[in-house]
Amino acid sequence: MYEINETHDPNLRSWVESANDPNTDFPIQNLPFCLFRPDPEDEYDFRPPQMGVAIGDQIFDLLSAHLNGLFGRRFDDIFVGLDEFSPDFIASMFGPEPLSDLRTEAMNVLNVNAPRSIIANAKKYLVPMGGVELELPFLIGDYTDFYCSIYHATNVGSMFRPDNPLMPNYKYVPIGYHGRASSIVISGTDIKRPHGQNRSDAEKPPVFIPARNLDYEMELGFFVGRENELGTPINIRDAEDHIFGVCLVNDWSARDIQAWEYQPLGPFLAKNFATTISPYVVTMEALAPFRTPAFERDAADPQPLDHLNDEQNQKFGGLDINLEVYIQTERMRQQNIEPHLLSRSNTKDLYWTIGQMLTHHASNGCNLQTGDLMATGTVSGKEKNERGCLLEMTWRGTEPIDLPSGEQRRFLEDGDEIIMKGYCEREGFRRIGFGECRGRVLPAD
Ligand code: CA
Repeated sequence: MYEINETHDPNLRSWVESANDPNTDFPIQNLPFCLFRPDPEDEYDFRPPQMGVAIGDQIFDLLSAHLNGLFGRRFDDIFVGLDEFSPDFIASMFGPEPLSDLRTEAMNVLNVNAPRSIIANAKKYLVPMGGVELELPFLIGDYTDFYCSIYHATNVGSMFRPDNPLMPNYKYVPIGYHGRASSIVISGTDIKRPHGQNRSDAEKPPVFIPARNLDYEMELGFFVGRENELGTPINIRDAEDHIFGVCLVNDWSARDIQAWEYQPLGPFLAKNFATTISPYVVTMEALAPFRTPAFERDAADPQPLDHLNDEQNQKFGGLDINLEVYIQTERMRQQNIEPHLLSRSNTKDLYWTIGQMLTHHASNGCNLQTGDLMATGTVSGKEKNERGCLLEMTWRGTEPIDLPSGEQRRFLEDGDEIIMKGYCEREGFRRIGFGECRGRVLPAD
């Protein structure tokens, strides 16, 4: 687990002026990784996407900076002759440590106190964020989605089983299912309304129609950096050494398809038509100032079993990340109405830590690979305005939401855009943010 160090100093400033704006998501203390195409208009540019870090409203091209000698000698020695740069390539070749070093190297170059010659050189490798095309930051081999908000699980459970909302396993097992990696898309990708089997009329056979109850789920995702071998579990004490960083996740969900298909094996086509992630991977090191204790369990709750219980994880395994969901409908866009805030929740309310999720995942010897994505499940809090999906907010559509355009929503309509944001704030530290995870719903074919 990363300690707070000199890279978290709130007084650090960059010569990239936009990074010093107090409202930016990307001050020099953050430097999240991304993969980008510098010139998306050039159809003859067949080069692989480049690895960069976000700084203010710019992206700093790490490969070009490395090839032009901007980083330290020790770093150059590791990567000498290397002309492929991507987070999964580096982590699978050298382990995740060089990625952390890379953050420090980039920080030194982007620092306002860097030597003038370095700054003059480095300016050539900045690209405005608005002009690039961002790609998935990792080659995601596998995707697993958990269900770790006890408030979400209790709300959803009580809609279906009012007397017994939480299953007896919930306080022992970080519940999850294997999702689908091929349909994970980057923020900004349109989402086509899926078709599926609907059986809303219990008297009749199901019909195959466009999903009616389309929903989003506000989640936090985390990427595996260090792998474990098949058959070798990960000790809870070492869990975070295997986690590279985090992003925002929208687990699009078709509730009507889900209600009919989920028994007995759980979610399938209701979930795997699309999952959107934000393009920037905020490293665990950048998150060090924003750690919290694990969820404080009720006195009556069982303690985690030994293999999921660790003193350091209990003290610092939580994350204080604010998550916000906004909606902008077609009519709101036409009337120039700003996106409307639907909910605000926080990952510190999750019942299980990301370390416990990862350790549980590998506890049977399942091998996790660099670039695997895991997500926490819908992050909901105790309060009504902290519910991270429409299913909960509108209580299965029975309590529609009023929008500033005069419209109402039970579930998502065609043309609706969902915009998710995340940020960390703590007294004495620089605010850091996650950028956006957005997607617009297109009509079904
Ligand atoms: Ca989910």
